[in-house]
Amino acid sequence: MLRIYNTLTRSKDEFKPITPGEVTMYTCGPTVYDYFHIGNARSFIMSDMIRRYLLYSGYKVKYVMNITDIDDKIIKRANEEGIDARQVAENYTRAFLEDIEKIKIKKADVYPKATDHIHDIISMIARLIDNGIAYNADGDVFYEISKFNGYGKLSGKNTEDLEAGARVEVNEIKNNPFDFALWKKHKEGEPYWESPWGNGRPGWHIECSAMGCKHLGETFDIHSGGTDLIFPHHENEIAQSEGATGKQFVNYWIHFGFLNIDNEKMSKSLGNFFTLRDFIKKYDAETLRYFYAQTHYASPLNFTDEALSASAKGLERIQNLYDKLNEMISSGDTGTEEPAFDLAGYYTSFNESMDDDFNTPKAVAVIFDFAKDANRIIHSGAKFTRGFLESLKEFMDKTAVGVFEIIKVHDAGAGRDLADDLIGILIKVRQEAKISKNYALADLIRNELNALGVILQDSKEKTTYKIH
Ligand SMILES: [Zn+2]
Repeated sequence: MLRIYNTLTRSKDEFKPITPGEVTMYTCGPTVYDYFHIGNARSFIMSDMIRRYLLYSGYKVKYVMNITDIDDKIIKRANEEGIDARQVAENYTRAFLEDIEKIKIKKADVYPKATDHIHDIISMIARLIDNGIAYNADGDVFYEISKFNGYGKLSGKNTEDLEAGARVEVNEIKNNPFDFALWKKHKEGEPYWESPWGNGRPGWHIECSAMGCKHLGETFDIHSGGTDLIFPHHENEIAQSEGATGKQFVNYWIHFGFLNIDNEKMSKSLGNFFTLRDFIKKYDAETLRYFYAQTHYASPLNFTDEALSASAKGLERIQNLYDKLNEMISSGDTGTEEPAFDLAGYYTSFNESMDDDFNTPKAVAVIFDFAKDANRIIHSGAKFTRGFLESLKEFMDKTAVGVFEIIKVHDAGAGRDLADDLIGILIKVRQEAKISKNYALADLIRNELNALGVILQDSKEKTTYKIH
């Protein structure tokens, strides 16, 4: 039985999806004004592992990650670069999608963009005004937090604490300094859309409420994001969605802990700010994923070069076992031996660890225990049945590959990284050829690779390959 620590109830709750066997999950995606950093990467990777475990457990998962493509930061960037805000958003959306593919994050079912949902956003704001919890102040529309009883239920903050504790800029057009913008009146030089309140653009918080409800329904199962989003972003999402629909917005809220670098907060001014792009020049995706999996998603995590190197080294043990099993299976180096091996026990321990609020450190430890045990047996000199070897490989395929993606599947020995990268480039060129309807070139690439024994496999999600 899966239990999830729910920020909303502050307890580990048994997971009961709204529709048995199906999970609806939303995670806050990037604001596309820059490359994302390794702290963001932690949230994206841990969310990906949770989703993969739900799939492993047999759930059908609908996974939505939004893209905030209109925001103050994007406009600022556009002004700095002297280009259109839309161009900034497009450039960094493309970079974002490339980067998450590099760190083996499974594609979301939908990547809704805020600017494609202006209509949904406007209708939600209109509903809030109708319900008497938002007001139009001369073209700016604000959410009136005192009109929503549940305000503060996620973060545990109440409005009095807020007023006592924070410095908020005095804004004469708001009824209360903590009321937040749903719709921002058009300012010169900014992108805008038409609305019943005049030209303007949406606030950040309303985007996630509108897109979550649109793609997953007015109530859905899981919403995840970084701890820094609990307040005000997620608190405001709840206030907006529940204020509009009168229904519970999300049943389980999951939050990812902070990432520190050498025990300090990552910041541009401290010079310890790393984008994922820079990081993956030095380490591979599997190492980063394994490093993150070794700490529970909710705990803070300290990022150091030494810890990363230790992870890379540790990972070799299970990669070697996986490669060895593949080699034994494909070379036909098999026999009749069927040793006693408690494979079911490893599955049980793995599942129990992950069912306990996605305890990834415990679950990866199970994979390492399994590897120790399996290594001892396969290096004993006996010849094992193909079925036995395949059952060991299957365990790794389901856990280390399927759930964590911490080992490489394509291992053709030395030079494999270069071959993998080159095939990756050809796959990309072929995709571009298809987009520009140059089918002759697309076919040429496939056939030439085929002749080398590299078989491309197209699926809805992506193109993979197999070496024969
Ligand atoms: Zn969000």
